[in-house]
Amino acid sequence: MRHNFGAGPCILPQEVFKQASAAVLDFKDGLSILEISHRSPEFDGVVEETVKLVKELLNVPSGYSVLLLQGGASLQFSMVPQNLLPEGGTAAYLDSGVWASKAIKEVKHFGKAHVVASSKDANYTFIPKDYVIPEDSAYFHYTSNNTIYGTELFELPVTKVPVVCDMSSDIMSREIDVAKYDIIYAGAQKNIGPAGLTLVIIKDEILGKTGRSIPSMLDYKSHIDGGSMYNTPPVFSIYTAMLNLRWLKSKGGVAEMEKENIAKARALYAEIDRNPLFKGACAVEDRSRMNVCFVMEDPELEKPFAKYADENGFEGLKGHRSVGGFRASMYNALPITSVHALIDLMQSFEEKHK
Ligand code: PMP
Repeated sequence: MRHNFGAGPCILPQEVFKQASAAVLDFKDGLSILEISHRSPEFDGVVEETVKLVKELLNVPSGYSVLLLQGGASLQFSMVPQNLLPEGGTAAYLDSGVWASKAIKEVKHFGKAHVVASSKDANYTFIPKDYVIPEDSAYFHYTSNNTIYGTELFELPVTKVPVVCDMSSDIMSREIDVAKYDIIYAGAQKNIGPAGLTLVIIKDEILGKTGRSIPSMLDYKSHIDGGSMYNTPPVFSIYTAMLNLRWLKSKGGVAEMEKENIAKARALYAEIDRNPLFKGACAVEDRSRMNVCFVMEDPELEKPFAKYADENGFEGLKGHRSVGGFRASMYNALPITSVHALIDLMQSFEEKHK
């Protein structure tokens, strides 16, 4: 079996694939999960359990709603300002990568974005620090993990304004204090489940304050009132996410995953720093545990290493085109044995090129 270091959609546990495929053939009384009504009591149970697992795994306090939506994290780039930004208002954004800048781009349809800091000029190789979030901002938005550049922001910036976070690529990988956030959103296709589902965790009291008229499908309130079934939900994605969250719980939950993710990241970064052929692609203090980006000291060796990795059963290691080099994405389901195998590969490549 190949070691899947893909950035997303990405590896999920084998047992989840097995259970999900069994449900395609027979979910209940010979009926496929693909042919049952989303209004059936069985599927009600799936939504209920999925929401319960999210609440349990992330310790979501009362006063928050957990929504299972569609449209990807990208739709949240415009749903957030549409629901939180009053006419003529300004929201503060941290520009730490392409996804953050795409979120900033959408704000202009609804009001103004004030970019508190940007590392764009440095090709987003670090996370900007020491910025000021104006206190009259409608909210502050940041991306906790910059999937493309391999940087991660572990400490929530201190601010009195409501905080919105795009956690698409590090949600469920480490413990967080949900009470410090007003909206957390994430495309599911990393640590939650397959593509097609978007998780939104929202503090209820933040809504209904802009005076805007919002189309129903874009209004968080419709989805809260409809229990994530305002319209037909992505039934199979939700079911598979539920299986994956069950798996996560059985592994000891987010705290256990965090320990494992720290061990995986430490091991791989240690090899990148030790091996004279490789070097990290971004600021050491901002290194992501989920997406490890690295390049080769001699760019001529990139193609041979990529070929060597492919021949030896490694998948998805190619860096994003805007960074180049390599990106090893190490989501929850990637076993540490795959990380050790990658380290062995880097060492045997070093031997060959001495
Ligand atoms: N934000 C981040 C941090 C991402 O990594 C991605 C996609 N990988 C997105 C947003 C966009 O997500 P989607 O494709 O679900 O719209």
